[in-house]
Amino acid sequence: MSADDPAAETATAGENDDHHDFWAEAVADEILARNPDDPIVIKGGVSPSGVAHLGNVNEIMRGSFVAEVLRSRGHEVRQVFTSDDRDPLRKLPRKLADPDGQIVGLGDVDAGALGRNLGKPYTDIPDPFGERDSYAAHFAALLEADADRLGVNIEMYSNTALYADGTFDPVVKRVLERADTAREVLSEYQAKADDEYVPFNPICAECGKLTETIRSIDLDAETVDYVCTDMEVGDETIDGCGHEGTATFREGKLPWRFEWPGQWQVLDVDFEPFGKDHAEGSWPSGIDIAENVLDIEPPVPMVYEWFTLNGEVLSSSAGNIVTVPELLELLEPEVIRYFFALHPKKARDLDLSRLDQLVDDFDRFEDAYYEGVDDESVTAFAEAAYPHVVDEVADEQPIRLPYTFAAVLGMVDDPALREKLARDEGHIPDDADDATVDAALARVERARSWAERMDNAYNYRLQAELPDTDFDDATTDALDALAEVVAADHDGETIQSEVYDIARDHDIEPGDLFAAGYRLFFDETQGPRLGEFLGDLEQEFVVDRLRRER
Ligand SMILES: [Zn+2]
Repeated sequence: MSADDPAAETATAGENDDHHDFWAEAVADEILARNPDDPIVIKGGVSPSGVAHLGNVNEIMRGSFVAEVLRSRGHEVRQVFTSDDRDPLRKLPRKLADPDGQIVGLGDVDAGALGRNLGKPYTDIPDPFGERDSYAAHFAALLEADADRLGVNIEMYSNTALYADGTFDPVVKRVLERADTAREVLSEYQAKADDEYVPFNPICAECGKLTETIRSIDLDAETVDYVCTDMEVGDETIDGCGHEGTATFREGKLPWRFEWPGQWQVLDVDFEPFGKDHAEGSWPSGIDIAENVLDIEPPVPMVYEWFTLNGEVLSSSAGNIVTVPELLELLEPEVIRYFFALHPKKARDLDLSRLDQLVDDFDRFEDAYYEGVDDESVTAFAEAAYPHVVDEVADEQPIRLPYTFAAVLGMVDDPALREKLARDEGHIPDDADDATVDAALARVERARSWAERMDNAYNYRLQAELPDTDFDDATTDALDALAEVVAADHDGETIQSEVYDIARDHDIEPGDLFAAGYRLFFDETQGPRLGEFLGDLEQEFVVDRLRRER
């Protein structure tokens, strides 16, 4: 992934962003072209699933940049997010996120309680962690917390609550009044729209599951009579119990193709970003239903590309996900925000093994904002987007340690030594105050977590105490010779090449001398480029350690 020319990519919501350097500006233009009343409403939504992960915040983040741009133009904006929680649980998730957002297996919760509730709305299923009112409430709390961690305020709406409090009544009534038209429209998009089909799914009063066989509709009483029969949902079948009953419009739900436009109506939505799956599926039918069944104008759409994780599709069941709290252990929130500020039309990969590249791109983006870089499109993008990416634009450009250098510092535990090394390398100005230094060094812990998580070339720990060693005479002589080189004030590269010369002079393999060094400094058999690492450390310490004195 890189920030390669983000400004030059093609338009998304509109095709008219050639005069904008940040895509969210073009989207804002398109929304404002309709002269919406304030507050302008930006929506997103998700059906609760196993784990709330970074993919779930995609549209929250995309929407937030549009919201920010509109606010900067003086508009009042509400960013709403629906938890589509009257949807039925179709199958057991393999993984869940606990209340702290950490991924756990089903073995860690009462999975039996979940299994007994297949087919019921998420809001009617107990929270597997026993903290919230329901599974749905647990999931919504996770997402809201994730948005909050990334600096976005969303107003969460529970679909179930919108049905239960009657907000959806006029929509349900309208759809059922026009059931023939609804069927006709729907038949353009899906096979299941025969004469018997009624676009409403009551919740069975007996078994609590969503069902679909409706015998009659009473529009005045706002009720339907149903039989609880088997229902196909996606590729799953929800078994019916045979109960015959009556449900009010508040005791069921519209099928998704109707529910989505219904949300636009009841929440007065002006803009909604969504993934490609909806673009090919429920968006075309949503427009049709909005215009021809509900008589409302659909919101301005924006289709965003899914990003992949480590080159693969995000997948909870395959375990290819990362949660926001996990990623925040590795990256500053503004770096994650930057990732989502890049053009939504371009497919990207978030490669955890190369987070250093993403951070380097962010650092360059920040440089571009404060002083410009030699690529005009990057500078223009930064000027437009940076103020929306950071929490607050600081007067002085923040000091950023290069991420891989921060990872090197992460091999050292001692905060004072970290600071000294950063100063020696010229990454911290002499006149920096304590707060500035602390802020700069904060990246070290994140880079350290990255090294540990990826178990990469930076995942070593400088040993504070001399490890137990058992070297032969040739090796101890060679180590003493290397100590002399370091004591003579040579730089890392010289130390690195001297290892080879000294090994040859002492008739040992260079690999064995490196291994001896790794044993002394890391108590390991391998490590980073030793010469350069030793060149970065305090000289006296290195000399003493090579002499096995401390
Ligand atoms: Zn039933």
